[in-house]
Amino acid sequence: MASAPTTVTITGAGGQIGYALLFRIAAGDMLGTDRPVRLRLLEIPQGLRAAEGAALELQDCAFPLLHDVDITDDPLTAFQGANIALLVGARPRGPGMERADLLAANAGIFGPQGAAIGAVAADDVRVVVVGNPANTNALIAAASAAPHVPADRFSALTRLDHSRAVGQLAEAIGVGPGAIEGVAIWGNHSATQFPDVSHARVDGMPVLDALAERLGGQDAATAWLDDVFIPRVAKRGAEIIEVRGSSSVASAANAAIEHVRDEQRGTPWTSAAVLSRGEYGVPEGLVCSFPVTSDGDGYRIVEGVGLDARGRRRFEASVAELVAERDAVRALGVL
Ligand code: NDP
Repeated sequence: MASAPTTVTITGAGGQIGYALLFRIAAGDMLGTDRPVRLRLLEIPQGLRAAEGAALELQDCAFPLLHDVDITDDPLTAFQGANIALLVGARPRGPGMERADLLAANAGIFGPQGAAIGAVAADDVRVVVVGNPANTNALIAAASAAPHVPADRFSALTRLDHSRAVGQLAEAIGVGPGAIEGVAIWGNHSATQFPDVSHARVDGMPVLDALAERLGGQDAATAWLDDVFIPRVAKRGAEIIEVRGSSSVASAANAAIEHVRDEQRGTPWTSAAVLSRGEYGVPEGLVCSFPVTSDGDGYRIVEGVGLDARGRRRFEASVAELVAERDAVRALGVL
């Protein structure tokens, strides 16, 4: 094999999303079939056996691109030389757990992991946070990795929300998902997110016009967007749990793979939660979802995208939630 393996570290690798991720990464779906990979699986002690079992199956797949697999419960070992890190393992909200408790529990995970990334990861490391609350977990990890790793190397996943929005539009308009472009997710990866179709097009036609044609006028299209589309995208995770009896594991893993693939290989337009430097009036330092582009060297926010008054209000409400999460973490003395 010509190129040296890329070291990919996955936390919570023994969990469900980890199980859906590992085999696709090893098959070349994330970095391409020309890039060998070395997998580093980080787990807490009680998750190690599950990760070991997945590693046995990886061996049985005999993926030509898979160089080796290491399993550990030590962050410094897991992130040693990491080029790409997917932070999946997180503390779920338990019964009776307040938001502050959840943030504190996750600060106890993402703070040390960020510090380990700062201490031992490769110079070119890029990190995507999947574990919720993903935006604020990314903020904590980035702060803990400073000053060794620039904060803009950290991002959080809103690609699943983006793809869910595309899927809903494609069904409503009666086209394949590949015909839709220009969807944007603004704000937090939570129920307050704003899935925005105002600049989206279907086969070159504004999505709003296509919806009006399909649904019987502009008013019907606006009502469908407000009453059906936005809540459905924002609450899709709960819908999957209700129907499937289990969470949206495969689509979350697919979104994580596409997020990293497009960041590394380039894309003209998608959505990702990235570091704000004050774009669109979002307070500097927050990890917030925007429309983004990549030339293969990290995501950049697409600037100059117009938001109407209603869209701006929705976006600002989601940003206010991010500010509240950041302030709650600051109150814990974490940032
Ligand atoms: P999953 O692999 O199903 O989910 C992991 C994380 O991804 C959760 O925080 C979950 O958030 C989040 N997530 C983001 N998007 C989605 C989506 N669309 N659908 C579902 N989840 C989504 O969890 P498991 O419990 O199976 O596995 C977690 C693993 O992490 C375990 O093996 C555990 O041992 C490990 N772990 C490690 C910790 C550490 O590193 N210190 C701490 C805790 C766990 P949400 O819960 O909000 O759905």
